[in-house]
Amino acid sequence: MKTAYEYIVVGCGGIGSAAAYWLARAAGREVLAIEQFALGHERGESQDHSRIIRLAYHAPAYTALTRHTYAAWAAAEDESGVRLVHRTGGLDFELVAGEQPQYIGHYADSMDAAGIAYERLGAAEVMARWPQFRLPGAARALYQADSGLVDARKANAVHATLARARGATILESTPVRAIRPSGDGAEVDTAAGTFRARRVVVASGAWSNQVLRAAGTTLPLTVTQEQVTYFATPHLREFAPDRFPIWIWHGGARECFYGFPVYGEVAAKAGQDVGGEVVTADTRTFEPNPRAHADLLRFLETYIPRMVGPELYTKTCLYTLTPDRDFVIDRLPAHPQIAVAIGAGHAFKFAGLIGKILSQLAVDGRSEYPIDAFRIDRPALTDPSFPASFMV
Ligand SMILES: Cc1cc2nc3c(=O)[nH]c(=O)nc-3n(C[C@H](O)[C@H](O)[C@H](O)COP(=O)(O)OP(=O)(O)OC[C@H]3O[C@@H](n4cnc5c(N)ncnc54)[C@H](O)[C@@H]3O)c2cc1C
Repeated sequence: MKTAYEYIVVGCGGIGSAAAYWLARAAGREVLAIEQFALGHERGESQDHSRIIRLAYHAPAYTALTRHTYAAWAAAEDESGVRLVHRTGGLDFELVAGEQPQYIGHYADSMDAAGIAYERLGAAEVMARWPQFRLPGAARALYQADSGLVDARKANAVHATLARARGATILESTPVRAIRPSGDGAEVDTAAGTFRARRVVVASGAWSNQVLRAAGTTLPLTVTQEQVTYFATPHLREFAPDRFPIWIWHGGARECFYGFPVYGEVAAKAGQDVGGEVVTADTRTFEPNPRAHADLLRFLETYIPRMVGPELYTKTCLYTLTPDRDFVIDRLPAHPQIAVAIGAGHAFKFAGLIGKILSQLAVDGRSEYPIDAFRIDRPALTDPSFPASFMV
């Protein structure tokens, strides 16, 4: 096997498999992607039927990218013939006590600035269009028609398959032990020997600090164990993707929930955002958290009661959070031959695009997309007194 490549990608979850694909478009056989487990494993952040995708976002740094993320998925769909994005429309909710909403106001401002069309709806208007919701008068919503879901499992498999078809090598079940900068390239030590590359892309999720340690980088990351539950609603037709949108309920800590129509399983899915405990990639369990489950059930029984049915299963998963909950997409200042991305618990919708951006950082040293907000040297990542806040 070849031991020297132009590009090595460490980690083949959602972002790494996309980076391998976009690098393979540029450099084919000069790409090696290394994954510590088997492709499609369930120990990371990217394995489930669905992840929310949307133009709607809380800050301009993201609304500047959301249109491009649909284009990145479309490139993989066109090349593979596999449909990955399903538009359902999407609702962002908040209970508004005073005049101004706290959370969805930021969404409206960011969409206004980016020229993204949406509707503002009151509780009665939402219930007239989607009687699945049972809302109090104080509820306000934004509806954006392009929201929907990305089929995450298929997306990862499509990116990996297309990367291989373009000549990339993907090494599975091979942990990377260290990345050692060497000259203007790097050596990548693995269980299967040492590989050399001119550029390295790190997309290692919750393991990122272990992977980056030998390159002298430690990021202030918090890993939490999250979960989603599939409910076998008895009212399947009401929760089909053509009748029921994706939704996010913004209510602050322990009161932020999200959900999907019936997709992937004969069941609708919902979860609590940042509802889990702090863990590490090694100490996490696969046991559902009963408190987060009870919070979710209480929420659904109150606001979307006909969605609730027998529980099919609850699936655990990890978030890798930065203190400001913004992404990291950058090259290491001391070792620009190494690029890194951290998804901050909301990056799957952007995985295709982040993969493309990482490939540009590796190939050209810069990206055509605006990623300044995701710099690795921003205060949230360099100032130890920066107050962490995970609710956006
Ligand atoms: C319950 C839940 C719901 C979510 N919902 C949404 C949503 O609706 N919309 C959205 O946009 N995002 C959502 N997210 C967030 C999104 O899924 C993640 O941000 C995204 O999947 C992160 O991808 P990743 O490639 O960085 O991480 P991962 O998928 O974890 O990939 C990292 C990979 O690196 C590999 N690796 C690590 N260390 C090594 C090593 N030393 N050697 C080799 N390989 C290594 C790992 O095994 C893993 O495969 C959700 C996350 C969770 C947990």
